[in-house]
Amino acid sequence: MKLDDAVLPILYMLAAMGFILAIKWMNSPATARRGVVVGEIGMALAVIGTLLRFEVVNYEWIFVAFFLGTAVGIPIAYIMPMTAVPQRTAFSHACGALASALIGTAEYYKGLDQSGAGVSKVVMVALIVETLLGFLTFTASMMAFGKLQEVLPQRPIVYKGQNFVNLGIFAAAAGIGLALVVSPGQTFLFPIFAVLALLFGILLIIPIGGADMPTVIALLNSYAGLSASAMGFVLNNKLLIVAGALDGSSGFILSIIMCRAMNRSFTNVLFGAFGQLQTTSAAAGEAKPVHSATPEDAAQILDSARSVVVIPGYGMAVAQAQHKLREMYDILTRRGVEVRFAIHPVAGRMPGHMNVLLAEADIPYDKLWEMDDINPEMANVDVALIIGANDVVNPGAETDPNSPISGMPIIQAYKARTVMVIKRSMNPGFAGIDNDLYYRDNTLMLFGDAKSFLSSIVKEAGALAKV
Ligand code: NAP
Repeated sequence: MKLDDAVLPILYMLAAMGFILAIKWMNSPATARRGVVVGEIGMALAVIGTLLRFEVVNYEWIFVAFFLGTAVGIPIAYIMPMTAVPQRTAFSHACGALASALIGTAEYYKGLDQSGAGVSKVVMVALIVETLLGFLTFTASMMAFGKLQEVLPQRPIVYKGQNFVNLGIFAAAAGIGLALVVSPGQTFLFPIFAVLALLFGILLIIPIGGADMPTVIALLNSYAGLSASAMGFVLNNKLLIVAGALDGSSGFILSIIMCRAMNRSFTNVLFGAFGQLQTTSAAAGEAKPVHSATPEDAAQILDSARSVVVIPGYGMAVAQAQHKLREMYDILTRRGVEVRFAIHPVAGRMPGHMNVLLAEADIPYDKLWEMDDINPEMANVDVALIIGANDVVNPGAETDPNSPISGMPIIQAYKARTVMVIKRSMNPGFAGIDNDLYYRDNTLMLFGDAKSFLSSIVKEAGALAKV
């Protein structure tokens, strides 16, 4: 019995267990770190196991790739800020999908070389699925990266008959793929098939706005996973089948959760061109009076409250205000104020964005309340302190049937006795629409960068505490 026959199944089984436990533990902030570590161990075992396979006869190129990948990967992990995680994820998907597509391409030509008549039909089906999804996910992920990094226009680009053209190109690619399954020897078809798949990936993303990119990335994650799973069938590698299936299903479930949290359908996300310029009062620049307040006012209101609910959003992530928030939390809790944090499932720019930031600042997990649990409590809350959130507290989602976010569940901050909003201006959030909450009598606008405004509140509250 060869060494890899004895060791490989055990290593692969442990790796698969690591991946499953990682997904399970990443479900809760309390166990998420453990989940990341066990996932990393699983991946290390998978790589070691694969390097031990008897097919691997030459390690030179593998080490070249290993050092190149490490040289690029480690700086990316450190250079990319937290707010850029969605585009970093899109870039990783692009790399994974390209690798999968290239391996599929190599297997296709290798199969032709060896047998002279092409690969078997079953393998050919898996190979076509792998390369189709791999190539389209590569260009689509690069487009998503470009939109999120703002090197490409964020607004959806739409034209008449667009869906017809896109579906036509996909159908042509799938049709040629089918022809290759039937007769793999027609090598001239393969490059046409690959180009059509690459083109479809670009065209798929053009009509989708930047606001929907995180949901699209979750979906592309699912495609990349399915491509990897198909690659497992081509290479007869069980771990790839398992890991790809986990990736494919978890990405798909995540995109469903995100669509539900925004009350949007898949077709609306993919074909709805959400994020086109709105002709609302925000866009038209209509001026309505608001009540603004200073850090001293805010500190006094917070100090005299019994119960405060903090609602963080994208602006808190941009300002990196979570540590100042922690300081404010400490002062207020020492003064006997009950402080809780309300987490909207799509606050920020990626799922779990707020949980990650608050965990980084060591906010106790039991103080984090999910939207459905905190909303029934909001009417008894003295102060709702909104920090850089906008769309996720916009009452228009409940009251205005014509709003682009109509029906999206929100955190009902408007029910609190006093609402305070930290943001820099009256500019809209990601959906590009005005927020009626800012003009209400019980709302105070605290204009400024979230981190500096919170610093001033902390200073004032600290001074009050000494009185
Ligand atoms: P948002 O609606 O985009 O609003 C963020 C607010 O933060 C802006 O109004 C901005 O106002 C303020 N801001 C920016 N920089 C700031 C700073 N340095 N200091 C203080 N304020 C700052 O954010 P959200 O309420 O978190 O909603 C998230 C949006 O993203 C939703 O529309 C959601 O559907 C969408 N989305 C999220 C996900 C996800 O997975 N999380 C996925 C897909 C889509 P100023 O410019 O005036 O400061």
